[in-house]
Amino acid sequence: MVATFTGKVVLVTGGGSGIGRASALAFAREGAKVVVADVAVEAGVDTVSKIEATYGEAIFVKTDVSKAAEVKKLIKKTVDTYGAIDCAFNNAGIKGVSSSTAACTEENWDRVLNINLKGVWLCMKYQIPYMREQGGGAIVNMSAAAGLSNCLERFPAYTASKNAVIGLTKTAALEYAKAGIRINALCPGYIYTPMVESEIHQNHQNSDLKDLMANKVPMGRWGTPEEIAEIALFLCSDTASYVNGHAMVVDGGLVA
Ligand code: NAD
Repeated sequence: MVATFTGKVVLVTGGGSGIGRASALAFAREGAKVVVADVAVEAGVDTVSKIEATYGEAIFVKTDVSKAAEVKKLIKKTVDTYGAIDCAFNNAGIKGVSSSTAACTEENWDRVLNINLKGVWLCMKYQIPYMREQGGGAIVNMSAAAGLSNCLERFPAYTASKNAVIGLTKTAALEYAKAGIRINALCPGYIYTPMVESEIHQNHQNSDLKDLMANKVPMGRWGTPEEIAEIALFLCSDTASYVNGHAMVVDGGLVA
């Protein structure tokens, strides 16, 4: 089903872990030259080593997606190295600290919004001009099922950021459709990644939280990073040539 990415240049932010790493590996498997961006150096370098050891070509660029100067440099480095930027998976994100809306600190609010929302905007801000110049491209922005109807209690900043990513994605999709740039959002449900694992391990009062959450999903299980990676590939591929401005849910039936 998934089209080949041979000859394509693909950028994945948050590519050092979880969904981002699985996606970077999958794009490379399909022939893409992959730019792995992450704030975590060791993790990002490790993803590149895994790509080089198994499939192909990749570079790592240390980037904090909430910083305009770093994102600008990342996109320039991508184009300088590989001559183009065909697809971007703006995936980097954090959950932030768990607290009620009234208890959420300004620091937590700003950090989550800066990475999850401003980070996605900054990535598009610097990706789009190159894509326009080269005559098109495909962008996938990471939202979440929590960006739709499955809002998360005790994560107000996260939920707000993921809702906002969908609005931002649709606005940009309208603006650049005629420039040949497709822009979609991806909304995973419960995906078992290092982000989730550390949250579950911190929650000592509820050691079977993992099973409790799995039981909330109609399919009765967590999704895997690889299952989300395949959908990121689909949305970036020519197979999805008429999919634009869409928020695609991949959640085992959670939102339904
Ligand atoms: P993860 O923690 O395994 O990976 C996130 C990666 O983003 C890490 O490598 C981290 O270093 C990087 N990152 C964090 N802040 C960054 C910054 N400022 N600049 C650049 N990189 C940064 O998490 P994951 O579960 O793979 O999540 C990836 C994305 O998927 C996030 O946006 C998350 O909100 C979203 N998501 C995850 C789930 C889930 O259940 N795991 C569900 C819905 C959406």
